[in-house]
Amino acid sequence: MIKGKVDIMGVFIDQGNLEDAANRSIDFLNTDGCKMIITPNTEIIMSAQENLKLRQIINTADLVIPDGIGLIYASKIQKKGLTERVTGVDLMHKILSHCNETEKSIYILGGKPGVAKKACENIKSKLPGITIKGFRDGYFKEEEESEIIEKINELNPDILFVALGAPKQEIWMGQYREKLNSKMIMGVGGSVDVLAGTVKRAPEIYQKLGLEWFYRLLKEPWRYKRMMVLPKFMIKVIFSK
Ligand code: UDP
Repeated sequence: MIKGKVDIMGVFIDQGNLEDAANRSIDFLNTDGCKMIITPNTEIIMSAQENLKLRQIINTADLVIPDGIGLIYASKIQKKGLTERVTGVDLMHKILSHCNETEKSIYILGGKPGVAKKACENIKSKLPGITIKGFRDGYFKEEEESEIIEKINELNPDILFVALGAPKQEIWMGQYREKLNSKMIMGVGGSVDVLAGTVKRAPEIYQKLGLEWFYRLLKEPWRYKRMMVLPKFMIKVIFSK
């Protein structure tokens, strides 16, 4: 059972493990309105310090999971209730597996041209019970957005997965959520690349040791600038204790 939200620097994160998050997400499929799932890591929490629109969108989401080991450290230092990291990619797998059993439908928006298509092909071959309503790459102009929403609503998927990178996808979801007919919208970032097979996840040992960020740094060293927020985040956490 998810117990409640924990405040990490003004951003409210749901307590609970992967199982709790999956159960909660599955419940969303049987309720009214379009529920929103956001998976912030440390970088997003840091962006949300200055970007108040982003913070407000995260804080109005229906489920916010701690997708960064930094959040767990922060929670431990500040004696709050987050016990373990819950990744977006793991939650997406759980949701997809439920969709397979219950014949629900999905749409994937985002990724470089061809990536969402490949992810959908891989999903369909592993989980044939899922209906793929459609996909589209994430490199479009603002003028095209209302047409994209119209098209998605016509196709009427149960779930829309959005992979436009953070914080673009969160802002986008916040802007269009009310206009969507879907039951659920989830920001999935690089998970679409993992599902397409274009990016590999860190080996399990890195995941277990909370070092997935380090593996990513080794594989994509150009991300170091983005990752420099990690030590800044930890300093902020320690001094706001
Ligand atoms: N992306 C996109 N449109 C954009 C920017 C990014 O579709 O305008 C996609 C990108 O191709 C990748 C995903 O968003 O598939 C995740 O991007 P990023 O590496 O920035 O996010 P993270 O992996 O940190 O979630």
